[in-house]
Amino acid sequence: MNAYRAPLGDMQFLMSEVFRADEVFAAMPGTAEVTPDLISAILEEAAKIAENLLSPINRNGDHEGCQWTDGVVTTPAGFKEAYEEYVAGGWAGLTGEIDFGGQGMPKLLSSQIEEMFFGANSSFALYTILTTGATLTLSEHASAELKQRYLPKMYEGRWTGTMCLTEPHAGTDLGMIRTKAVPQADGSYRITGTKIFITAGEHDLTENIIHLVLAKLPDAPAGPKGISLFVVPRNAVDNEGDLTGELNGVSCGAVEHKMGIKGSATCVMNFDSAQGWLVGELNHGLSNMFTMMNYERLSMGLQSNGLADSSYQTAADYARERIQGRSPTGPQQPESAADPILVHPDVRRMLLTMRANIMAGRALSMYAAMQLDISRFHPDPEQRQQADRLVALLIPVAKAYCSDRGFEMCVMGQQVLGGHGYVAEWGLEQNVRDARIAQIYEGANGIQALDLMGRKTVRAGGELLAVLLTEMDKFVADAQDIPGMDRYLPHLLNNQQMIRSVTRSVIDRASDNPEEIGAASYAYMELLGLTLYNFMWLRILAAVLPKLQAGSGDTPHLSGLVKTAEFFFARLLPRTRALIDEIEAGAQTLMAMSAEEF
Ligand SMILES: Cc1cc2nc3c(=O)[nH]c(=O)nc-3n(C[C@H](O)[C@H](O)[C@H](O)COP(=O)(O)OP(=O)(O)OC[C@H]3O[C@@H](n4cnc5c(N)ncnc54)[C@H](O)[C@@H]3O)c2cc1C
Repeated sequence: MNAYRAPLGDMQFLMSEVFRADEVFAAMPGTAEVTPDLISAILEEAAKIAENLLSPINRNGDHEGCQWTDGVVTTPAGFKEAYEEYVAGGWAGLTGEIDFGGQGMPKLLSSQIEEMFFGANSSFALYTILTTGATLTLSEHASAELKQRYLPKMYEGRWTGTMCLTEPHAGTDLGMIRTKAVPQADGSYRITGTKIFITAGEHDLTENIIHLVLAKLPDAPAGPKGISLFVVPRNAVDNEGDLTGELNGVSCGAVEHKMGIKGSATCVMNFDSAQGWLVGELNHGLSNMFTMMNYERLSMGLQSNGLADSSYQTAADYARERIQGRSPTGPQQPESAADPILVHPDVRRMLLTMRANIMAGRALSMYAAMQLDISRFHPDPEQRQQADRLVALLIPVAKAYCSDRGFEMCVMGQQVLGGHGYVAEWGLEQNVRDARIAQIYEGANGIQALDLMGRKTVRAGGELLAVLLTEMDKFVADAQDIPGMDRYLPHLLNNQQMIRSVTRSVIDRASDNPEEIGAASYAYMELLGLTLYNFMWLRILAAVLPKLQAGSGDTPHLSGLVKTAEFFFARLLPRTRALIDEIEAGAQTLMAMSAEEF
């Protein structure tokens, strides 16, 4: 099994040269102190954690999984010690609110750390990511008193967090949840109900677990408008934020046996008159939870990028070493019995497809993370509003398109190794199993596509898309003077034209038939994903070409990026045409079959 290597070169190039993180951070008071030196130092330290602490316990975590005995959940060997080191390094509060002990770091930076941790050990990373999401929700919506009670210990890493939404009969349709919250005279609530599939719901890493729970008051309006959000500690906490020594009616009924991420405890959680406190306003629970969901959904794209990159590293190494057959143009390694499989065009097709998708997916995740930072930190309200609109459009794509491609890239990596990819030894089959969940949780990818097509495009009358297309226009106007870019920019201009016209066509058809939205949604999400990957590759080239011409920088790295971009434009981007045909095919063929005919 190959050890994970953090892709620091690509990450730092994207951060400093493509997205000019130093300029972005310098323009915002909350991030002005995040200098290039600090960014490099943090990324390098995170790389050490990923490579030396998390990667070595990844395989064992998969073998051993989490154990449940009488409500007690034990994580795999090594997880507890690794978590202690992670906490000692101060990683838990990296992006947290400074007033409550966090370090206030931007998402653009932390997103790359997430990718590394997910790539090295997705199961372990989930314990930390859920906590970050929970603290973010508390930070945005809880009262100062609740924040003081919970955030400092969560930022210290002494307590972890969860999000408890799903119930046995309510997954996508959370309006149907049955968990009840009954108001008490002291202002708290008694929470009763069962939640399933709760990541990190119970474990042995910390002394307490803080659950964010969706529930309904007995007289709440029906459906999603009656959902409220509560903070419910597993172990009771006093007003000063100290443990009282008492339990709080929260127990773990089971851990799920599942396909992958076996070291992550996926729990059935029972709340039996547990004491909880309202977070934000009554009946606004779902919208408050969305603060966290934008970040969590981006994280699922990062999980996929990380695992795909881990598979790519092993596959590329293997293809250089494994000798089978001869090059079609004659022996390349005559001293050996055969040539390395890297000589075969089809093996190169797989490796280049992986590299092209991984780099663009990483860039798209950074672009979305940057918008989240602008929306959070920028002093100019107009800039914040513009970033909010981009976030709304980008997040479903960064979640669904990156996780679909990420899973496919893990499968492709397996294929490069042939039978050796199928057996456990090289770790590629684990990556396939671990990557699969990102397409499902945090809202299944079909739901992301529906959100993009329905709420964010048709119902917004195409306004959010117009914001993105204007960003692309601005980029093209700036980039056209860069020598060499004129060859590539028409790819984006064509794509923009296609997307404008197909969007109008779906909006028109949907006004007569609402089924047209769901019928177009998946292909539309893929079309926007491919268009964004196109945009990302152009942004990369706009940074690479001047450096290559000036002879500065790491030439093999830069020329490799140009060749990968050429491959993307020639062999992956043409799929846009098939997607347009699929979108234009409309709802008729989907809806023609009766239930009995399926
Ligand atoms: C390992 C794991 C960890 C998880 N962690 C958490 C967690 O920490 N907290 C938490 O609350 N939940 C968690 N979940 C739950 C997860 O978010 C849900 O499984 C997911 O949102 C889908 O819900 P469901 O499984 O009920 O599927 P369903 O809602 O039953 O959907 C089934 C299928 O129907 C499609 N579908 C449903 N409704 C529509 C519609 N209106 N239009 C079009 N298609 C539709 C979906 O896209 C999907 O393909 C986890 C799940 C797993 C497996």
